[in-house]
Amino acid sequence: WHDKLLGGFKRTSDRLIGNLAGLGAARLDTATLDDIEEALIASDLGPQTAARIRARLAEGSFERNMEELGIRLIVAEEIEKVLAKVAKPLEIEAFPRPQVILVIGVNGSGKTTTIAKLAHLLMEQDYAVMLAAGDTFRAAAIGQLATWAERVGVPIISGKEGGDAAGIVYEAVKQATAIGTDVLIVDTAGRLQNKRELMDELSKIRRVLGRLNPAAPHDVVLVLDATTGQNALSQIEVFSKDAGVTGLVMTKLDGTARGGVLVAAAEKYGLPIHAIGVGEQMGDLRPFDPNEVARIIA
Ligand code: GDP
Repeated sequence: WHDKLLGGFKRTSDRLIGNLAGLGAARLDTATLDDIEEALIASDLGPQTAARIRARLAEGSFERNMEELGIRLIVAEEIEKVLAKVAKPLEIEAFPRPQVILVIGVNGSGKTTTIAKLAHLLMEQDYAVMLAAGDTFRAAAIGQLATWAERVGVPIISGKEGGDAAGIVYEAVKQATAIGTDVLIVDTAGRLQNKRELMDELSKIRRVLGRLNPAAPHDVVLVLDATTGQNALSQIEVFSKDAGVTGLVMTKLDGTARGGVLVAAAEKYGLPIHAIGVGEQMGDLRPFDPNEVARIIA
């Protein structure tokens, strides 16, 4: 899967390295630093990271020629620093159980698949897991989640299409509590008639959960599709304002993603990144390793 990950950062990395290689063994004067900063921004790493790397390169080495490899080393170091601050696996520590993980994100981001992957990972760690089909807006969503639940081998609480999502979540918490479930993972709608309605629905689910257990939901995980590049950033903006996001999972880092956006997200929002998705199978959720990602990008 390391090879898959190379794919996910290929566009970012190609742009970056292509641009840096063009500089040759340049003297790091202002014009060259400008070029490097531009290359970093073009690689989706974000303006803040780009500015910081520029400042670091300018430090002391202004008069010195710096080879491409030396620059790449510094870029990798800075990327790793940004990512290391946010790399944080989901911890299962709620008491009383269950720990309730609300999974949110727009349709197509990989939400359902991520729930299946997460359930599979937690099962492997010997946690008792349950799913709740809280996306009652699309009939297909309920069916899809049920198929995954069967494949992974976890129980699922679901209702009818168009049913009351908060009611299903309420029922799921009661059942999960009754049978000693460790982790309840709740799917949510990725789109309703409009954004307001979607956010209202998420708030309603949160209120119902909070009434059952003031600490719930323990986690609100936003799923993002890395292939959407900068779009992923605006989704963080929207959802973190209205839905209380506590952490991120970035999916599709195996495809033709512009994985550099992960760095921009880390720098701009500082939200924990719990894991990354590198495929469509249940085993394709991976821990997020800042050192590895930094080395792949630069
Ligand atoms: P949802 O609408 O957000 O629930 O998205 P789904 O989980 O249904 O995923 C949408 C599509 O993306 C499906 O075809 C998935 O197989 C695919 N997908 C999800 N995660 C990944 C991933 O990490 N890598 C790849 N290559 N495809 C993924």
